[in-house]
Amino acid sequence: MALPRFPKLPLKPEVLQERYSRHLAMSGIGPAGQQKLSEASVLLVGAGGLGGAIAYYLAASGVGRLGLVDFDNLELSNLQRQILYKESDVGKLKVESAQRGLQELNSELDIKTYTSEFTCESGEKILSADNYDVIVDAVDNFAARQAMNKLSQEHEIPFVHGAVYRFEGEVSTFYPGKGPCYACLYAEAPEADDAAPGPASFTPGVIGTLEAAETIKLLLGMDELLVGRLLRVDLRRMSFMTLKVQRDGGCLVC
Ligand SMILES: [Zn+2]
Repeated sequence: MALPRFPKLPLKPEVLQERYSRHLAMSGIGPAGQQKLSEASVLLVGAGGLGGAIAYYLAASGVGRLGLVDFDNLELSNLQRQILYKESDVGKLKVESAQRGLQELNSELDIKTYTSEFTCESGEKILSADNYDVIVDAVDNFAARQAMNKLSQEHEIPFVHGAVYRFEGEVSTFYPGKGPCYACLYAEAPEADDAAPGPASFTPGVIGTLEAAETIKLLLGMDELLVGRLLRVDLRRMSFMTLKVQRDGGCLVC
Protein backbone atom coordinates (compact mmCIF):
# COMPACT_ATOMS: atom_id res chain seq x y z
CA MET A 1 0.00 0.00 0.00
CA ALA A 2 1.35 3.40 -0.96
CA LEU A 3 1.97 5.64 2.02
CA PRO A 4 0.31 9.09 1.96
CA ARG A 5 2.54 12.03 1.05
CA PHE A 6 2.36 15.57 2.32
CA PRO A 7 0.40 17.77 -0.10
CA LYS A 8 2.66 19.11 -2.85
CA LEU A 9 3.72 22.72 -2.65
CA PRO A 10 3.02 24.89 -5.69
CA LEU A 11 6.35 25.85 -7.23
CA LYS A 12 6.25 29.53 -8.08
CA PRO A 13 8.48 30.21 -11.10
CA GLU A 14 9.60 33.66 -9.93
CA VAL A 15 10.66 32.27 -6.55
CA LEU A 16 12.58 29.47 -8.23
CA GLN A 17 14.34 31.82 -10.63
CA GLU A 18 15.62 34.30 -8.11
CA ARG A 19 16.01 32.37 -4.91
CA TYR A 20 17.77 29.34 -6.38
CA SER A 21 19.54 31.10 -9.28
CA ARG A 22 22.96 29.72 -8.26
CA HIS A 23 21.64 26.14 -8.20
CA LEU A 24 19.69 26.60 -11.41
CA ALA A 25 22.85 27.63 -13.25
CA MET A 26 24.84 24.61 -12.02
CA SER A 27 25.28 21.55 -14.24
CA GLY A 28 24.95 19.13 -11.29
CA ILE A 29 21.59 20.59 -10.18
CA GLY A 30 19.81 22.83 -12.70
CA PRO A 31 16.02 23.30 -12.90
CA ALA A 32 15.32 19.54 -12.86
CA GLY A 33 17.43 19.06 -9.73
CA GLN A 34 15.85 22.00 -7.96
CA GLN A 35 12.42 20.58 -8.76
CA LYS A 36 13.51 17.24 -7.27
CA LEU A 37 14.63 18.98 -4.07
CA SER A 38 11.34 20.86 -3.79
CA GLU A 39 9.45 17.54 -3.96
CA ALA A 40 11.78 15.75 -1.51
CA SER A 41 11.04 14.98 2.12
CA VAL A 42 13.65 14.36 4.82
CA LEU A 43 13.15 12.89 8.28
CA LEU A 44 15.78 14.51 10.48
CA VAL A 45 16.19 12.83 13.85
CA GLY A 46 17.77 15.16 16.41
CA ALA A 47 17.67 18.96 16.56
CA GLY A 48 20.97 19.62 18.33
CA GLY A 49 24.38 20.58 16.94
CA LEU A 50 24.31 18.17 14.00
CA GLY A 51 20.60 18.67 13.36
CA GLY A 52 20.90 22.46 13.28
CA ALA A 53 23.62 22.47 10.62
CA ILE A 54 21.79 19.85 8.55
CA ALA A 55 18.41 21.58 8.81
CA TYR A 56 19.84 24.98 7.86
CA TYR A 57 21.34 23.67 4.64
CA LEU A 58 18.31 21.58 3.73
CA ALA A 59 16.05 24.60 4.25
CA ALA A 60 18.37 26.96 2.36
CA SER A 61 18.75 24.46 -0.50
CA GLY A 62 15.03 24.33 -1.15
CA VAL A 63 14.20 20.86 0.15
CA GLY A 64 10.40 20.75 0.23
CA ARG A 65 9.52 18.96 3.42
CA LEU A 66 11.27 18.32 6.69
CA GLY A 67 10.20 16.13 9.59
CA LEU A 68 12.06 17.05 12.77
CA VAL A 69 12.22 14.73 15.77
CA ASP A 70 13.46 15.89 19.20
CA PHE A 71 12.02 15.96 22.71
CA ASP A 72 14.58 18.16 24.51
CA ASN A 73 14.34 21.69 25.82
CA LEU A 74 17.24 24.01 25.02
CA GLU A 75 19.87 24.43 27.74
CA LEU A 76 22.31 27.34 27.97
CA SER A 77 25.26 24.95 27.48
CA ASN A 78 23.78 23.89 24.10
CA LEU A 79 24.46 27.33 22.62
CA GLN A 80 28.20 26.52 22.44
CA ARG A 81 27.51 24.38 19.34
CA GLN A 82 23.79 24.39 18.44
CA ILE A 83 23.74 27.26 15.96
CA LEU A 84 20.04 27.02 15.19
CA TYR A 85 19.16 28.61 18.55
CA LYS A 86 19.35 31.98 20.30
CA GLU A 87 19.67 32.92 23.98
CA SER A 88 15.93 33.67 24.00
CA ASP A 89 15.25 29.99 23.16
CA VAL A 90 16.79 28.67 26.41
CA GLY A 91 14.24 26.58 28.33
CA LYS A 92 11.98 26.16 25.29
CA LEU A 93 11.30 23.04 23.25
CA LYS A 94 13.97 22.72 20.57
CA VAL A 95 11.66 21.59 17.78
CA GLU A 96 9.44 24.65 18.24
CA SER A 97 12.35 27.11 18.16
CA ALA A 98 13.87 25.18 15.26
CA GLN A 99 10.63 25.29 13.29
CA ARG A 100 10.35 29.06 13.79
CA GLY A 101 13.99 29.69 12.83
CA LEU A 102 13.85 27.50 9.74
CA GLN A 103 10.54 28.98 8.65
CA GLU A 104 12.10 32.44 8.91
CA LEU A 105 14.91 31.25 6.66
CA ASN A 106 12.56 29.62 4.12
CA SER A 107 8.81 30.17 4.38
CA GLU A 108 8.23 27.65 1.55
CA LEU A 109 9.59 24.82 3.67
CA ASP A 110 6.94 22.47 5.01
CA ILE A 111 8.00 21.40 8.53
CA LYS A 112 6.41 18.77 10.71
CA THR A 113 7.69 18.32 14.26
CA TYR A 114 7.56 15.20 16.45
CA THR A 115 8.16 15.65 20.16
CA SER A 116 9.27 12.17 21.09
CA GLU A 117 12.29 10.03 21.69
CA PHE A 118 13.18 8.13 18.51
CA THR A 119 12.61 4.41 19.05
CA CYS A 120 11.46 1.57 16.77
CA GLU A 121 7.89 2.19 17.98
CA SER A 122 7.80 5.98 17.64
CA GLY A 123 9.73 5.82 14.36
CA GLU A 124 7.31 3.25 12.96
CA LYS A 125 4.40 5.54 13.81
CA ILE A 126 6.07 8.45 12.01
CA LEU A 127 6.93 6.43 8.90
CA SER A 128 3.47 4.81 8.76
CA ALA A 129 1.77 8.19 8.86
CA ASP A 130 4.10 10.24 6.64
CA ASN A 131 6.28 9.29 3.71
CA TYR A 132 9.96 10.32 3.75
CA ASP A 133 12.64 9.86 1.11
CA VAL A 134 15.57 9.65 3.52
CA ILE A 135 16.26 9.36 7.26
CA VAL A 136 19.08 11.54 8.59
CA ASP A 137 20.89 10.80 11.84
CA ALA A 138 21.60 13.78 14.10
CA VAL A 139 21.42 12.04 17.46
CA ASP A 140 24.02 11.28 20.09
CA ASN A 141 23.13 7.73 21.07
CA PHE A 142 23.47 4.21 19.73
CA ALA A 143 19.92 3.05 20.55
CA ALA A 144 18.31 5.71 18.34
CA ARG A 145 20.75 4.89 15.51
CA GLN A 146 19.87 1.20 15.78
CA ALA A 147 16.17 2.12 15.52
CA MET A 148 16.82 4.34 12.47
CA ASN A 149 18.79 1.55 10.80
CA LYS A 150 16.11 -1.06 11.44
CA LEU A 151 13.36 1.20 10.07
CA SER A 152 15.56 2.18 7.12
CA GLN A 153 15.85 -1.49 6.17
CA GLU A 154 12.18 -2.33 6.81
CA HIS A 155 10.83 0.66 4.89
CA GLU A 156 13.65 0.59 2.28
CA ILE A 157 14.52 4.23 2.94
CA PRO A 158 18.18 5.29 2.77
CA PHE A 159 19.80 6.37 6.04
CA VAL A 160 22.50 9.04 6.28
CA HIS A 161 24.55 8.57 9.44
CA GLY A 162 26.73 11.09 11.25
CA ALA A 163 28.35 11.14 14.67
CA VAL A 164 30.70 13.47 16.55
CA TYR A 165 33.17 13.04 19.37
CA ARG A 166 35.40 15.89 20.64
CA PHE A 167 37.36 16.96 17.51
CA GLU A 168 36.32 13.90 15.52
CA GLY A 169 33.38 12.70 13.53
CA GLU A 170 32.18 10.27 10.90
CA VAL A 171 29.66 10.11 8.08
CA SER A 172 28.29 7.22 6.04
CA THR A 173 25.19 6.33 4.03
CA PHE A 174 23.32 3.07 4.37
CA TYR A 175 21.22 2.38 1.30
CA PRO A 176 18.99 -0.73 1.57
CA GLY A 177 19.78 -3.13 -1.26
CA LYS A 178 22.84 -1.17 -2.39
CA GLY A 179 25.33 -1.66 0.44
CA PRO A 180 25.91 -2.59 4.07
CA CYS A 181 23.74 -1.30 6.91
CA TYR A 182 24.70 0.46 10.14
CA ALA A 183 24.57 -2.86 12.04
CA CYS A 184 27.11 -4.35 9.57
CA LEU A 185 29.45 -1.54 10.69
CA TYR A 186 28.52 -1.57 14.38
CA ALA A 187 26.89 -4.75 15.66
CA GLU A 188 27.58 -3.36 19.13
CA ALA A 189 27.91 0.23 20.39
CA PRO A 190 31.19 1.75 19.15
CA GLU A 191 33.71 2.54 21.85
CA ALA A 192 33.19 6.09 23.01
CA ASP A 193 33.42 7.55 26.44
CA ASP A 194 30.06 9.26 26.84
CA ALA A 195 31.26 11.00 29.99
CA ALA A 196 34.14 12.61 28.06
CA PRO A 197 33.79 16.36 27.56
CA GLY A 198 32.93 17.69 24.12
CA PRO A 199 32.35 18.01 21.29
CA ALA A 200 34.22 21.13 20.20
CA SER A 201 31.80 23.82 19.02
CA PHE A 202 32.59 23.39 15.33
CA THR A 203 32.71 19.58 15.09
CA PRO A 204 28.91 19.11 14.70
CA GLY A 205 28.88 21.98 12.18
CA VAL A 206 31.46 20.27 9.95
CA ILE A 207 29.92 16.80 10.24
CA GLY A 208 26.35 18.12 9.93
CA THR A 209 27.30 20.03 6.78
CA LEU A 210 28.82 16.86 5.32
CA GLU A 211 25.59 15.00 6.14
CA ALA A 212 23.57 17.75 4.46
CA ALA A 213 25.78 17.47 1.35
CA GLU A 214 25.34 13.70 1.32
CA THR A 215 21.55 14.01 1.76
CA ILE A 216 21.16 16.60 -1.01
CA LYS A 217 23.33 14.54 -3.40
CA LEU A 218 21.22 11.48 -2.58
CA LEU A 219 17.97 13.39 -3.26
CA LEU A 220 19.38 14.62 -6.56
CA GLY A 221 20.27 11.05 -7.54
CA MET A 222 23.98 11.80 -7.75
CA ASP A 223 26.61 9.03 -7.74
CA GLU A 224 29.56 8.54 -5.41
CA LEU A 225 27.68 8.63 -2.15
CA LEU A 226 29.25 7.22 1.01
CA VAL A 227 27.49 3.87 0.42
CA GLY A 228 29.85 1.12 1.60
CA ARG A 229 32.29 3.78 2.77
CA LEU A 230 32.84 5.47 6.13
CA LEU A 231 34.29 8.97 6.12
CA ARG A 232 36.36 9.61 9.25
CA VAL A 233 37.19 13.21 10.06
CA ASP A 234 39.79 14.36 12.59
CA LEU A 235 39.69 18.14 12.89
CA ARG A 236 42.67 18.31 15.24
CA ARG A 237 44.87 16.83 12.51
CA MET A 238 42.66 18.19 9.70
CA SER A 239 42.58 14.70 8.25
CA PHE A 240 39.76 13.18 6.19
CA MET A 241 39.98 9.45 5.61
CA THR A 242 37.58 7.06 3.86
CA LEU A 243 37.36 3.42 4.93
CA LYS A 244 35.56 0.61 3.13
CA VAL A 245 32.59 -0.95 4.91
CA GLN A 246 31.67 -4.50 3.90
CA ARG A 247 28.33 -6.21 4.29
CA ASP A 248 28.39 -8.55 7.27
CA GLY A 249 27.04 -11.93 6.14
CA GLY A 250 25.84 -12.60 9.67
CA CYS A 251 24.14 -9.21 10.13
CA LEU A 252 20.82 -9.64 11.91
CA VAL A 253 19.31 -6.47 10.42
CA CYS A 254 20.03 -6.64 6.68
ZN1 LIG B 1 23.63 -5.14 8.00
